[in-house]
Amino acid sequence: MKHKSDKRERFKYKSNFTSSRQMNYPKCPICGKNIRDLYSAVNYSKTESPAHFDCILRELKTTYDLRPDEKICYLGNGSFGIVQFRGPDSPIRFFIRKRIQYESAEKKPEWRKKLPFNSAM
Ligand SMILES: [Zn+2]
Repeated sequence: MKHKSDKRERFKYKSNFTSSRQMNYPKCPICGKNIRDLYSAVNYSKTESPAHFDCILRELKTTYDLRPDEKICYLGNGSFGIVQFRGPDSPIRFFIRKRIQYESAEKKPEWRKKLPFNSAM
């Protein structure tokens, strides 16, 4: 008898786990919408929680005054760069005017540690 109930408990736990993983997406602190793809999310500096990559990008654009020939690009390892695009006559096509280390390079955010596969970010 005891063995049977043990089994049922384990099954209940397992089904709860799956459904919560499917239903409870974290909310983006910037736009308030669900984040369905945590692997592309960025750690938001003000709340230490995940936010949409695009939302972070939008916020960086308003924080840093961009010139018309500049764009913010993701450089990898949690850092962004303000990239200047030069005309076709220039020997260099683009150069990084400013590097923004957005996420800490050493410290991984707690929520990302919980992901089944750690992303390269
Ligand atoms: Zn968002």
